Amino acid sequence: MSEDCIFCSIVAGDIPGRIVRETNHAVAFLDANPLAPGHTLVVPKQHYGRLNEIPGDEAADLFDAVHDLSAAVEDAVDADAVSIGINDGEAAGQEVPHTHVHLVPRFEGDGGGPFHAINPSSEQPSEDELDEIAEAVRER
Ligand code: AMP
Ligand code: ZN
Repeated sequence: MSEDCIFCSIVAGDIPGRIVRETNHAVAFLDANPLAPGHTLVVPKQHYGRLNEIPGDEAADLFDAVHDLSAAVEDAVDADAVSIGINDGEAAGQEVPHTHVHLVPRFEGDGGGPFHAINPSSEQPSEDELDEIAEAVRER
């Protein structure tokens, strides 16, 4: 547990949260400022800042919960779809430094965009640049 972490405090029960699921390594609760009805956050019980800090078995448990909740949340609010995402790092918009997965129910014609609305650069990479990037990821 990290002192002063709001999500650690929710996991510990020190501050209230509308918890909807608890597994061995993960807890899910409703977002306090929802982008849509049913907006849910799934967090590891332990404090990890970034996704890649979570050990594999705990990450698997977290994503099991995401998999399960994607249908549960959609159904509970009678939504048509769900946007699922992580703001992984400050430059990506992460504000709470305890990694978390957003499940945002989506409704036909709700006016929200797809992830393709995230468009920091309008220039398309060349074929060579795409090859270089793919190689750099493979090497790691
Ligand atoms: P992010 O920008 O990805 O770090 O998202 C943080 C999310 O946490 C936002 O959607 C907030 O509305 C949500 N949030 C902040 N404080 C609380 C809280 N006490 N309980 C539930 N959700 C919260
Ligand atoms: Zn924390």
